[in-house]
Amino acid sequence: MDAVKPARIEILGVPVDCVSMTTALDYVDELLRGGEAGTVLAINPEKVIKARQDPVLLGQLKTAALLIPDGIGIVGAARLLGLANIERVPGIDLMMRICERAAERGYRVFLYGAVPEVNAAASEALAAAFPGLRIVGRQHGYLSEAEMPALVSAINNSGADILLAALGSPRQEQWMATHLAQLRIKVCQGVGGSFDVLAGTVRRAPASWRDRNMEWAYRLLSQPRRLMRQTALPRFAFQVLGKWLSRSPRQGHTSG
Ligand code: UDP
Repeated sequence: MDAVKPARIEILGVPVDCVSMTTALDYVDELLRGGEAGTVLAINPEKVIKARQDPVLLGQLKTAALLIPDGIGIVGAARLLGLANIERVPGIDLMMRICERAAERGYRVFLYGAVPEVNAAASEALAAAFPGLRIVGRQHGYLSEAEMPALVSAINNSGADILLAALGSPRQEQWMATHLAQLRIKVCQGVGGSFDVLAGTVRRAPASWRDRNMEWAYRLLSQPRRLMRQTALPRFAFQVLGKWLSRSPRQGHTSG
């Protein structure tokens, strides 16, 4: 049966899709069977704040095929504002499930992004995790603009169905907006810093932290350089609270 396009809500004017891990994966399957390339992007509080200040990024998010609720802040805001009862779908977990499915079904994967050693180590880690996974090409994420046509040709010539783009945000969204139309792929997922986690250069929060929805705090403590970036978290919380306080008591299910 065909997967239904997920319902899309807006949190502070930024879109996000009401999906679980299962329905997100079903929708990716649908994209893989379809004709045109679609992008899969993660929405977290940091990206909401960025997109509110950057109309170009907001426009790029709006054209995405699938916008997963990546941060617990997104899940909490959607519930508080009475928009939807969604669950968290971390981008790195979806990436792993997509690769698992690609290994089972023979889809070809291309890895683009991160420094050369990390890109190579991420590829090895995926190949080890999913025997039979067809990684048909890879490229580190520090090419010049002049090298882009060659990269587009390399991706198209590889026959890749799935492109994992790990350039960080908003660089990966910009890259997709510029190049997606030239690519003969089916799915392009923006995976941010996930190759660093796969390569082991950045440690993901232990499961006990993840289970308590404290992955954001672990990232903050283990990568203090992110502190400035993470000022987005309190700003997001204040803006969501402001939105909640300004709602009329009867306003249950309008767009945030
Ligand atoms: N990166 C890249 N090319 C660039 C800048 C960054 O490939 O020109 C990579 C960088 O090496 C890292 C990832 O993009 O692997 C950014 O990770 P970050 O954790 O900052 O991304 P986020 O998940 O927060 O968007």
